Amino acid sequence: MNLRRWIGIGLVLCFALPTVAHAGRGADGEYEERRSSHFVLYQDVDIDRTSGFYGSRRFEQQVLEVLEGAYRQLDAAIGLRPRDAIVVTIHDPEIFAERFTGLFRFPAAGFYGGTIHVRGSTQVTDALVRVLHHELVHAAFDQALPRVALPAWFNEGVAEWFEARALGLHHISPQHKRVLREVAAEGQLFSLAQLSTRALGHLGPREAGLAYLQSRAFVDFLVRERGDKRLRDLCRRVARTGDLVDAIERIYRRDLARLEADFVDALRRGSY
Ligand SMILES: [Zn+2]
Repeated sequence: MNLRRWIGIGLVLCFALPTVAHAGRGADGEYEERRSSHFVLYQDVDIDRTSGFYGSRRFEQQVLEVLEGAYRQLDAAIGLRPRDAIVVTIHDPEIFAERFTGLFRFPAAGFYGGTIHVRGSTQVTDALVRVLHHELVHAAFDQALPRVALPAWFNEGVAEWFEARALGLHHISPQHKRVLREVAAEGQLFSLAQLSTRALGHLGPREAGLAYLQSRAFVDFLVRERGDKRLRDLCRRVARTGDLVDAIERIYRRDLARLEADFVDALRRGSY
C-alpha cells in the first residue's frame, strides 16, 4: 500500500490495554488531584499553578467539565452509565513519552489501562476533547465487563465513533471513505476477525491508521444503515451480557459475517 495514501488520516490513536498501575506521583511528585461527580482527575502538566486564565485550577475545572459532558453523552449515545468513579491522569508529554512509549508501535495520544492516561496539553484543545471521549468508552465497557476482552473493532470502533461525534463529526469524511474504497477495491481491508484482538497496539503506524479507520467506519455503517438507537441497544446489551456475537444477531437480525460482507460490498460499489 502506498504510504502517501495515509497522509492526512490523522487519527487520534489510543486504545485499551490491560491494567497499568497508576503512579500517584509524577516526576515532580506533584500530580494535582481534583474530583467531580464521576471522575477523579490527576494532572502533572507544567502549567502556572497560581492564577491566570490558563492556570492549572482553571484547566482542571475545564477538563472535568468536558468529562462530565462526555459522561452525559455516553448515556445518550451508547446507553452506558459507569457507577464507579473513573480515574483520569493527564501526564506531562515528556513523562508520558518516557513511561509509555514502549507500549505502542505508533504515536498514542492516550490509552486506557484500568484508568485513563492522556498525553498532556496545557489547554482544552479539540485533540484533548477527542481523547477524553474516546478513553471514556473504554472505561465504561471495562467497568461493565471487567473480565471480558471485547474485540478491538468494536471497542475501538465505538470509541472512535463517539469521539468524532463529540466534535460534531457524525460521519466519516469523504476523504476517508475514498481511502477505504481504494483499499477495499484492492482487497486489502482487514477482516473483522483480524481486528478482533483485544488491542491494536501491535500494529505499525500505517496498519493502525487503517485498523482504527475501518473499525470506526464499520460502526458508522451500522448507524447509517440501521440508526443510532440500534447501536445504543447493541452497546447496552453487550455491556449486560458480554456476548457481542449474540447481541448483534438479536439487535440487527443478521450475523456479523453478513453485516461485514454488506459493508465491504457497499464500499466496493461506492454506496458507502
Ligand atoms: Zn481506543
